[in-house]
Parts: sequence; structure tokens; C-alpha cells
Amino acid sequence: SQRFVTPLAEVSNIVDQYENAKASSERVFGLMSIPVTIEDGPDAVDLGTVEGRVEYDDVGFGYGDHVALADSPAGGGADDEDDDRYERVLDGVSFVAEPGETVALVGPTGAGKSTLLKLLLRLYDVDEGAVRVDGHDVRDVTLSSLRESVGYVSQDTFLFDGTVAENLRYGEFDATEEAVVAAAEAAEAREFIEALPDGYDTRVGERGVKLSGGQRQRLSIARAMLQDPEVLVLDEATSDVDTGTERRIQESLDRLTENRTTLVIAHRLSTVREADEILVVEDGRIVERGTHEALLAREGRYADLWNVQAGTLDAARSRTDGGRLD
Ligand code: ADP
Repeated sequence: SQRFVTPLAEVSNIVDQYENAKASSERVFGLMSIPVTIEDGPDAVDLGTVEGRVEYDDVGFGYGDHVALADSPAGGGADDEDDDRYERVLDGVSFVAEPGETVALVGPTGAGKSTLLKLLLRLYDVDEGAVRVDGHDVRDVTLSSLRESVGYVSQDTFLFDGTVAENLRYGEFDATEEAVVAAAEAAEAREFIEALPDGYDTRVGERGVKLSGGQRQRLSIARAMLQDPEVLVLDEATSDVDTGTERRIQESLDRLTENRTTLVIAHRLSTVREADEILVVEDGRIVERGTHEALLAREGRYADLWNVQAGTLDAARSRTDGGRLD
């Protein structure tokens, strides 16, 4: 797990929270002189090679405890499920993604979609139930092996203080130069990287060149291509790029998710249309599930969402960029 943690100089969202939680838990345990970290349990085992079956089994989660841990060195850890402050963000969430399948999460902002993904990356631990990869509770495996098997792609992906090449090799340190360039090419990142002052040796991150959300997204796609994980966690937030680039990014994402278990917060109509299963999340619960056709036929929440969002899309626009669900 050290290799996940050490190089971070600049982090954002998801990783930021993880780091805060970790730093403060180290403070807590440090004060108590107990040689424990938040990361690996004493009996944690390496996950090893996995098929990529992901299972959420009656998962419940609230930030209450976890926030307390980050906020105050004295607090945290207590089981305050009965506490009034305990607010459930996820409740009774169960589903399975078989190896190679794509499960798309849709639903309003604040419904709990990204929280759901964070539990698989183990940025937080569940309060109830379990998240399993190939039958292994993620709490029972080492974080380093979990994060070798589970890749993460988004615009918020952290870039540490280092060169573009170092950032791309992150997670796959021995990748050859050819492999790095091929991944950048496949992720539609080659052109902009080569236009940077020092190309692949350009410093990015906190003290380096600032990159746009779309550029960060492409670097994280390239990084995931090098890492080649069995499971992919994808926040598909659409980037502020021209239509042509957008379409090419979509193509590289399609290549990346092919034959790989994928949990995706879907923003593109094409993604939900082709997903093996769509989960409609509202208020921390799965309120509907099924394929695009099945859910449309049901004429429930998904159909409402689809009709409002897709129906109002200008037909010409949806032909040129595939349409968006946000
Ligand atoms: P979505 O991804 O569907 O927009 P989120 O998982 O981001 O939803 O958020 C679900 C709920 O959890 C929201 O009410 C949000 O305010 C809350 N939440 C998200 N992150 C945190 C956090 N770090 N601490 C406390 N509450 C959070």
C-alpha cells in the first residue's frame, strides 16, 4: 500500500479524503502508541489474480463516524449507529457485477453513487454488509493488492508532483517507454503531452504545469491502460473538450472497459444503453435495476430520467456526440 500513498503531493476529492482519514488515524494511533494503520488489517492477505467478480452484499454506510475520525484526534471509531447524527448515505445496497460486465449507476446528485464506488476502492469501510471481490471481503485483503486489481478513472484522478511519464507509470513502474507512449496514444493523450514544454518529462502536479479536467481524465485513462486491472471504477464525468476529442475519449474508454468488470457513474446515454445492468440510485438505495430496454418498458424512475434527459436532447446533437445523461 505504500506505493499508493507515498508519492502523493497533490490530491483531489476521493484520494484527498482517504489521505485525510489516514493521516488523522495515524495521529490517533500515534497518540495511543499503537502501531496500527487504517490500511491493512493484521491478517490482510494479498488478493492475487482475480476474475473480477464484484459483489455488494446488503451494504449500509454513513459518513458520521468516518468524518468524526478525520475531524478530531480524540473521536472516531465508536459505533454510534443509534446516534442521531448517524445519517445513512447508503442503505441495503446489493448487486453483483460478473467478470467483464458493466454496471452503470445513474440517479440524482447526492444519491450516493460516488460513495458506493469509494467503498470498493476502500477509501471508506462499510458500516453494514460487505463489498467483495471474487468472494474476498475487501477489508480482508491488502490495500496494495486491492488497488492493483481495481483501477480508477476520473477527471479528479490525482497527479503527484512528478513528470507526466512518472505519473503514467504509477502503478506499473516497469512499463517500457514504448508501452507508455502506446497507452498515451490509446488514451488520446499523446498529442497534448507532446505539445507540453518538455513532453513526457514535463512536471505536472502541485508545482508543475496545470492540466485541464479533460487532460487529467486522459492521463488517468492512459494510466489505467498500463495498469490493466481486472476491475475498473469509472466516473464518466464529461470533459470540456471539443466534440471530436470527446468522441475519441469515448472510444478509448470503450476499449478500456471491454472485457473488464466496470462500475461506472454514467453520464453518457450510450454507456447506460449498453450496460449489462443499470442501477438507479436514489437516496442511498437502489430503486430500480435492469437493462435499458427492461427499465424503459417498466416506465418507472429510469424511464422518467431517460425521457426528460434524452427526450429533450436535440436530435442532431445526440447524433454527433452520442448524447449525455446529465
Ligand atoms: P452522488 O455521487 O450520487 O452525487 P455522493 O456519494 O457524492 O452522491 O453523496 C451522497 C451523500 O453523501 C450526499 O448527501 C453527500 O452530501 C454526502 N457526502 C459525500 N461525501 C461526503 C463526505 N466526505 N462527508 C460527509 N458527507 C458526504
